[in-house]
Amino acid sequence: MFPLTEENKHVAQLLLSTGTCPRCIYRFCGVDFHAPYKLPYKELLNELQKFLETEKDELILEVPNPPPKKIRLQELEDGIDGIDNLSQNGEGKVSVIEDGSIASKNSNLNVCNVCLGILQEFCEKEFIKKVCQKVEASGFEFTNLVFSVSFPPQLSVREHAAWLLVKQEMGKQSLSLGRNDIVQLKEAYKWITHPLFSEELGVPIDGKSLFEVSVVFAHPETVEDCHFLRAICPDCFKPAKNKQSVFTRMAVMKALNKIKEEDFCKQFPCPPNSPKAVCTVLEIECAHGAVFVAGRYNKYSRNLPQTPWIIDGERKLESSVEELISDHLLAVFKAESFNFSSSGREDVDVRTLGNGRPFAIELVNPHRVHFTSQEIKELQQKINNSSNKIQVRDLQLVTREAIGHMKEGEEEKTKSYSALIWTNKAIQKKDIEFLNGIKDLKIDQKTPLRVLHRRPLAVRTRIIHSMETCYVDEHHFHLYLKTQAGTYIKEFVHGDFGRTKPNIGSLMNVTADILELDVESVDVDWPPALDD
Ligand SMILES: [Zn+2]
Repeated sequence: MFPLTEENKHVAQLLLSTGTCPRCIYRFCGVDFHAPYKLPYKELLNELQKFLETEKDELILEVPNPPPKKIRLQELEDGIDGIDNLSQNGEGKVSVIEDGSIASKNSNLNVCNVCLGILQEFCEKEFIKKVCQKVEASGFEFTNLVFSVSFPPQLSVREHAAWLLVKQEMGKQSLSLGRNDIVQLKEAYKWITHPLFSEELGVPIDGKSLFEVSVVFAHPETVEDCHFLRAICPDCFKPAKNKQSVFTRMAVMKALNKIKEEDFCKQFPCPPNSPKAVCTVLEIECAHGAVFVAGRYNKYSRNLPQTPWIIDGERKLESSVEELISDHLLAVFKAESFNFSSSGREDVDVRTLGNGRPFAIELVNPHRVHFTSQEIKELQQKINNSSNKIQVRDLQLVTREAIGHMKEGEEEKTKSYSALIWTNKAIQKKDIEFLNGIKDLKIDQKTPLRVLHRRPLAVRTRIIHSMETCYVDEHHFHLYLKTQAGTYIKEFVHGDFGRTKPNIGSLMNVTADILELDVESVDVDWPPALDD
């Protein structure tokens, strides 16, 4: 069924004669069901012409010497620059041509003066096919997608001009036209293109999909359309970081809301001029939202930092925990980059034993995201086989939200350590036994000298929950500690020149140092343990 009624005829004719495309005409006539927009452009144009001709035929009957039946609606010449002009020529010019078709000014396509071709060739099957070819060539794995488009900001200016034009015409017939009576360009574009995408790629369009296909359009020929707005409304166009131009869509919309209709009409032609060329496609991009992998790691090396150790641009050690794990993940997920986080960290010379330390890795723009639990197990095996410095367990896919559990209550958690201690004075078993009886010892730690370059100076109170000793020889013993998370263990042993009080040295009245330190357990119940 043809979507326009007699009531729309006048507006439709006016718009068609001023160079507006059939789909934009439907929009301005408030056609809000999808089917008519989806017809192929040619068919749509023919139908519209037929509809408008009927009226002309009727008119023609009243003409004494009827011209040939077929008539042509020709674009008004460029003379129409504003409302004043328009009201004189509101009907548009009608001229007769021989072959009966409505001719285009430029060969076969008149570029729409409102959508600049967006609702012409850029929503037709052929263009969507081209985008889909890019999507398929991108190598992303996806089961649904979200499609986003970015139109040049001057489209909003042209839309505004066309709206004022139609509003004025309807006003003459005592009809009103609000901003919301028009179907938005984006909406109409969606109605037409979404089914085409689904059909071509065989997956549904889903606003919540992590896989995004985005197309950015530009129209160099008309970039200056926006510029007059800046003179009228300088406040709306303030330079912003990471923006190439002040004429963003948001800024233009803001200015259009502020500007008085009369002022707009004085500065910008209503109807807008017809452009020579359609929009250009600036880019077609595919991207996948990040996915997250979590697990626990053990570190068995005293010569391996957790993250790349770089001082003054120079790398100190060739590897790191995060690289030994993430390199494999990057390859398998075909991701662009990663972000590593963990529940606390250990020094380069500290081992992490026991159940290991929870970690999570964000994989940015992954091309592959679907894995069975068996495949993840194999991936874990691969990581573990490739290095004897680390081992990974409980490797699993997790949500972004779940990672919060890793950091939750980190300060209140308990950590267990074992340390090998050296003393300057000779000691006997009985000299260290008193340490076993100390419970919940409060200590004050000034930010250690070794981390002062990256942490602010502060005094923090920490709790040593319990200690256990094991005598080795006159100058050595093992110390097992349960402490509040965030305690600086090395400093608790040697005192850091009196910056940690009390400390093992001061408690024993000796000079003490720490030779080896191992993390025995990190009490964070996340991620969930998996059966192996
Ligand atoms: Zn259009």
